[in-house]
Amino acid sequence: MNFFLTEEQKAVRRLARDFAEKEILPVVAEDDCSHRFQREIVLKMADHGFFGAAFPEKYGGSNLGFIAHAIIVEEISRAESSLRHFFNMQALTCPLTILNWGTEKQKEKYVQKLIRCELFGVNAMTEPNAGSDVASIQTTATEDGDSFVINGSKMWISNAPIMDAGVVYVKTDPRIVPKHKGISCFIVEKEMAGLTRKEIKDKLGHHCAPTGELIFVNCRVPRENLVGKLGQGFNIAMNALDYGRISVAAGAVGVAQACIDESIRYCNEREAFGKKIGEFQMNQQKIADMIAGTEAARILLYKAAFLADNKVRNTLESTIAKHVASETCVRAARFAVEIFGGYGYSEEYPVARLYRDAILYQTGEGSSNITSMIIALDGLGWKRAKVDY
Ligand SMILES: Cc1cc2nc3c(=O)[nH]c(=O)nc-3n(C[C@H](O)[C@H](O)[C@H](O)COP(=O)(O)OP(=O)(O)OC[C@H]3O[C@@H](n4cnc5c(N)ncnc54)[C@H](O)[C@@H]3O)c2cc1C
Repeated sequence: MNFFLTEEQKAVRRLARDFAEKEILPVVAEDDCSHRFQREIVLKMADHGFFGAAFPEKYGGSNLGFIAHAIIVEEISRAESSLRHFFNMQALTCPLTILNWGTEKQKEKYVQKLIRCELFGVNAMTEPNAGSDVASIQTTATEDGDSFVINGSKMWISNAPIMDAGVVYVKTDPRIVPKHKGISCFIVEKEMAGLTRKEIKDKLGHHCAPTGELIFVNCRVPRENLVGKLGQGFNIAMNALDYGRISVAAGAVGVAQACIDESIRYCNEREAFGKKIGEFQMNQQKIADMIAGTEAARILLYKAAFLADNKVRNTLESTIAKHVASETCVRAARFAVEIFGGYGYSEEYPVARLYRDAILYQTGEGSSNITSMIIALDGLGWKRAKVDY
């Protein structure tokens, strides 16, 4: 077992941290306040190769691996959690799904353009009436000659307002039992007739990440846009979540680290009862809890990423990493707000933003209830998530 980062991984961390400090931190408060999506920052991240760490060179990636990807996400998210979404839409869910399951033609057409942000991607599973229960999606794709006709809608889709292309999960056989077997995955493009997009405004947090709905009315998609086989969509979606949870866990670790950084700074500045507030043992207990929890989450994250780097299916490990990281992040954000007292409730300091952003980690890519269920069912031996390695 080796806990040392390689020289390459350390260099990537320096590069991402430097980028975050120079390009993101100076503007994050203003952007969050004005709900501004900074396309330029995302394009610069693509220029730095941040989205291609886990991709082969053949498709424009750097082949540094999933641990490197996690390190980059952690550093960027530590500065601004809104930017975390792009590490799924431009890396671990949308293009990686095409890389893992697509035809050679699909890979050549989309993968490199997505990780370079020449195209903005989406990964659309959730619907107005089905989120956690993916098998119950109602959007259909009906076969018609050489194409499929999609009807229905997708809700809460990251990047929907700015998307160019991406993967969407639909029912191709709504009658089949068990119902997850009737799901298929297609690539859609924004120009396709019958696809409209609507922005979801006024979210609680993640103000700088565009989110929206995709509405399909008789949207015709060519058969060659089918990803994998007909009826294989549920497996593809679950496999995408194994990878997506690495990125989400890394984002949560980054937010938790930001809560630690801010709390330590404030504990050394603020005085009460003639002492620095860091001298109060109850505040020290919070700092200790945040540091220990974040380090534990980070190690679980690196383990899940290590398995992915070694091509080992990591459903249980990425779920545990995501679960612990998101719960730790929310707890750290709550402690940070408490440590800041009344100022924690003000937009004058970053902890209010961290608190609003932290909460999403308990919902996306499998809510904390769902991740608990996966872990418990594996533990009970009722539904295995772990593979032997
Ligand atoms: C900002 C944002 C961005 C998002 N981006 C995307 C995206 O890009 N693509 C995408 O497909 N989706 C996206 N989502 C959707 C997200 O993945 C879903 O919101 C999430 O999966 C939960 O689904 P739901 O909202 O339908 O909640 P529901 O499934 O209705 O769940 C409601 C509550 O019930 C609980 N629950 C449900 N089933 C069970 C169960 N069996 N046991 C115990 N508790 C249960 C849940 O934990 C939750 O607390 C995004 C959401 C947000 C807010």
